Amino acid sequence: MLPEGTFAGQVALITGGGTGLGRAMALELARLGARVVVASRKQENLGRVVREIEAAGGEALAVPMDVRNPEDVDRTVRAALERFGRIDHLVNNAAGNFVVPAEELSINGWNAVVGIVLNGTFYMSRAVGRHWIHTGQRGNILNIVATYAWTGGPGVVHSAAAKAGVVALTRTLAVEWARYGIRVNALAPGVVDGTGAAAQLWPEEATRQRLLGEVPAGRFGTPEEVARVAAFLLSPYAGYITGEVLVQDGGLSLGKPLLQPPLSPFRSPPGAEGPGSPNGTRPPAGGPRGV
Ligand code: NAP
Repeated sequence: MLPEGTFAGQVALITGGGTGLGRAMALELARLGARVVVASRKQENLGRVVREIEAAGGEALAVPMDVRNPEDVDRTVRAALERFGRIDHLVNNAAGNFVVPAEELSINGWNAVVGIVLNGTFYMSRAVGRHWIHTGQRGNILNIVATYAWTGGPGVVHSAAAKAGVVALTRTLAVEWARYGIRVNALAPGVVDGTGAAAQLWPEEATRQRLLGEVPAGRFGTPEEVARVAAFLLSPYAGYITGEVLVQDGGLSLGKPLLQPPLSPFRSPPGAEGPGSPNGTRPPAGGPRGV
């Protein structure tokens, strides 16, 4: 959808850009012309993404850092400005998560997740936002959240509470900073396979299948799909959107089992039963969806 070169001459800083959704967003923004800064703790992941971007003809910088540390955050912003001279887009994507009943969650575990997700998002937004405001430059912030920010989610009290804070931060900064030409939005992906969240939250096949059965779209999302929507929200096509939380979850947060018949098997519309579907059920076009 976005024209080639949409982000030409611009710089995107992505926390957690070495893996999963962050990596996919880094590659997509670079494909669309952005110079990209990827920032997280592990140099080996960051270095791999930088090499991928450079191999495709783009420019990228890896900055090893911890978003929980305000000095690291300031150093990252300085490194981006020293190398590329500007920052146009900030994607707060870094997160930590693990499933644990609230009563068994340690104080360290709580602080780690809230520190990365909520504090890290604020530290990064504050550092980059102050730069934009002081230099008079316009910019965009995109925060990656999750739909349990508003439903809550058993087993992830730390992450749900932190993401809810990030949603409030998104809306607050959107209003405060609109006058400076700064847009602040959030994107809430549903279940996306091939990511760190997948490894942490649905590591076993049984959990994976159960989850899949709850997604109305009948499949997991892909990192590339998330990256394309992220690029849209950062692009001029979304120039009048701010303070929005866009849900991209195949209907998962809307499809509640109590309120609807089972999602599988798929039923033919009345009168459409053919000879191959004696009981009125048929697989969806393209074959069974694994639900
Ligand atoms: P992921 O691959 O594990 O990505 C998380 C990233 O955060 C890693 O690259 C990690 O890099 C970085 N990170 C962790 N702690 C950090 C710290 N203290 N400082 C700096 N960076 C840190 O997981 P993902 O699934 O792609 O998740 C990306 C985002 O999408 C997260 O915000 C997550 O909550 C959200 N999300 C994902 C899904 C999904 O289905 N995948 C669904 C909803 C929301 P280092 O280890 O190098 O630090």
